[in-house]
Amino acid sequence: MDYRFSSHVERLQSSAVRDILKLTQGQEIISFAGGLPAEELFPLEAISDAAQRVFAAGKGSLQYGLTEGYLPLREQLCGRMAAKGMQVEPDQMIMTTGSQQAIDLIVRVLMEPGDVVLVENPTYLASLQVFNLGGLRIVPVPSDKDGMIMADAERLMREHKPRMVYVVPTFGNPTGRVWSLDRRKGLLELCSRFGIPILEDDPYGEIKFNANDYFPTLFSLAGAADGGGVLYTSTFSKTVAPALRTGWAIGDRRVIQMLAKAKQAADLHSSTLDQQTLDQLLREFPLDEHIRRIGDAYGARLGQMENLLKSQNWPDVKWITPQGGMFLWLEFPEALDTQALLRSAVTKGVAFVPGAAFYAAAPQRHTARLNFTYTEGERMALGISRLAEALGEFTARL
Ligand code: PMP
Repeated sequence: MDYRFSSHVERLQSSAVRDILKLTQGQEIISFAGGLPAEELFPLEAISDAAQRVFAAGKGSLQYGLTEGYLPLREQLCGRMAAKGMQVEPDQMIMTTGSQQAIDLIVRVLMEPGDVVLVENPTYLASLQVFNLGGLRIVPVPSDKDGMIMADAERLMREHKPRMVYVVPTFGNPTGRVWSLDRRKGLLELCSRFGIPILEDDPYGEIKFNANDYFPTLFSLAGAADGGGVLYTSTFSKTVAPALRTGWAIGDRRVIQMLAKAKQAADLHSSTLDQQTLDQLLREFPLDEHIRRIGDAYGARLGQMENLLKSQNWPDVKWITPQGGMFLWLEFPEALDTQALLRSAVTKGVAFVPGAAFYAAAPQRHTARLNFTYTEGERMALGISRLAEALGEFTARL
């Protein structure tokens, strides 16, 4: 059969890291590449106990469920949302297979091929893949350490008439950056003036290193019961475990109902076993304390990685210390192409993600994303020393 693939999938790029790792199969690689949480911190026993309680409830727990998601879990989650200043009812929430599916479904119900989405530059790679698959035109907005630059956002809104703005305002992926309050309010004001919905993606907001930090979500700042044009998505992937594949979206009821229709076509509903397990977990397990432990542990790991990097005395390598999340964003001198550096690095047994993949346009090829949550201690030190070796050899050859 001569398969003809759709023009949308033809446009999907395979991940730069996966390609490199394929070349090095069999080697032992220390990876700073994936966005993997620390396995040691997964609440394995509490999840297992919660699952046991679900099974003990009887055969009904194995039945099909609602497309919108398991109601008792949504009710509990509404309480957690309210504690963050987002007052929503269960019918304003849909449970999804990870927040990744929420992003995919929102694009399906709100966007037509050819529509423009504005994004930060750089931004989350797998969202760019969703936008490409949906045939969208992706227009990056120049961004600095405080978020999108509002004058540019306004100019591009006038020029391109976008149908959506996609942002990760708190501990973004890949940069770890936090939008300032002014920029958050600025974007809300612009989007309400131009009538453009905002997709606020917030998988990392709770993973903060200083317990007292408070970064209000755009949804909460909009101050409207229906989100005031903001669709918000988050996930249990970073706070409990990604294997449960449970995320959610909240917003205007009309949008949530459309998302449910689209989700029926996609998968009928997300795993009811996983949702019931999470519901049971939230009843017995002190999740907020657990999230505090994760934040403290990740803050310590970031500290270790920064110390290791500083001790290398690499000239002209810059980064901004993130206040939360899972990633450190490095800027090497401009002449250094991190895609080429990665080839050297994997031969030494260490991997990271070259930054270019995260740019919708004008890739900054001297950037790199390092995950600091998956490794620690001696293994992290060995990884950074391997990276230093690769960098030494690589720059000697330049
Ligand atoms: N958004 C961002 C910014 C992410 O980094 C991720 C996961 N790496 C997701 C969404 C999706 O996460 P999940 O589907 O596991 O909830």
